Amino acid sequence: MEEVRAYIPETLKEALEIRSRTDCIPLAGGSDLMVSNKRTTGVAPSFDKPVLIIRNLKELKEISVNGKGECVIGAGCTSAEIAQSSVVPWHLRQAASRMGAVALRNSATIAGNIANASPKGDTPGPLYLLDARVRLTSLAGEREVLVSDFIVKFKTIDLHPDELITAVVVPLSERNFDYIFWHKVGTRKANAISKLTLSQAIKFDGRIVSDYRLSATATGAKTNRSREVEKLIIGKEITPALIEQVIDAFDEVISPRAMPEFRREATRRMIRRFLSVASERPENRVIDTFDGFHVTGQPEPVF
Ligand SMILES: Cc1cc2nc3c(=O)[nH]c(=O)nc-3n(C[C@H](O)[C@H](O)[C@H](O)COP(=O)(O)OP(=O)(O)OC[C@H]3O[C@@H](n4cnc5c(N)ncnc54)[C@H](O)[C@@H]3O)c2cc1C
Repeated sequence: MEEVRAYIPETLKEALEIRSRTDCIPLAGGSDLMVSNKRTTGVAPSFDKPVLIIRNLKELKEISVNGKGECVIGAGCTSAEIAQSSVVPWHLRQAASRMGAVALRNSATIAGNIANASPKGDTPGPLYLLDARVRLTSLAGEREVLVSDFIVKFKTIDLHPDELITAVVVPLSERNFDYIFWHKVGTRKANAISKLTLSQAIKFDGRIVSDYRLSATATGAKTNRSREVEKLIIGKEITPALIEQVIDAFDEVISPRAMPEFRREATRRMIRRFLSVASERPENRVIDTFDGFHVTGQPEPVF
């Protein structure tokens, strides 16, 4: 039987020491790695480098709020822990609570979801929207990078060989906005890899939009957010014509390869829905996709 060398450090310091001297693969929940390295049924996965098992490191398991009011999520926190935490921003809780099914949510970590750098990953959408940063730690010290810069391109991240992601810092939350939106389009209600997710948030100053953010996953080679598109509406009053301008501009940003018509049309509908409902200032701050509104243009499936 082929052997896999595995390191199981007991502390973060020990893990970083191993990282500094060994070319190894960090393994947290293993839900991506065990699939990407799988072999035939009944045969253990194969790894071409030693594996550094970091899933039990206590230093990576905490969720807290720092002195600046930013939510700091330990890299090893699972989707279930994130979904259940009251201090985690709303958009991220939604994404975490709809990942996979229960068993997966108990093992999949936020760092793994980011480091996997899949355009279909669910947490990068909210993380891009809220200007979140990853904290990267090595024996030499720490640096923080926007998640949107850390994910360089499809399956490529800006991680140095001696570093680990140790935390995700989220500076903004629903408290910074008047209306919020998050929706995942999948083939099932659970265990569905996203066909599309859309995150939106808006703030008004009187009738004028003072902040607007929009990000989408599964709509191109990486998560899409465009500050240029957002600027089209900031400083203005929402009109139907302006909504169409934003929709057309975002359509230029996304580049879905599979089912492009479906993904483009669903994206257009969700932006139109959010901005037009928000402009009416409803009481409910969460603008959802109920009330007979169909994201896809087709009747929603009944479960
Ligand atoms: C059945 C199934 C359903 C799924 N459904 C969804 C879904 O609905 N939505 C979704 O977004 N994803 C889904 N996934 C993908 C996967 O579960 C997630 O991407 C998950 O968050 C990965 O986390 P992990 O801890 O398991 O990562 P791992 O598999 O342990 O690692 C993934 C990558 O991250 C790196 N890594 C992990 N932790 C660190 C760290 N601290 N520092 C540096 N690098 C690190 C690893 O080296 C590896 O490259 C699904 C997967 C399966 C198998």
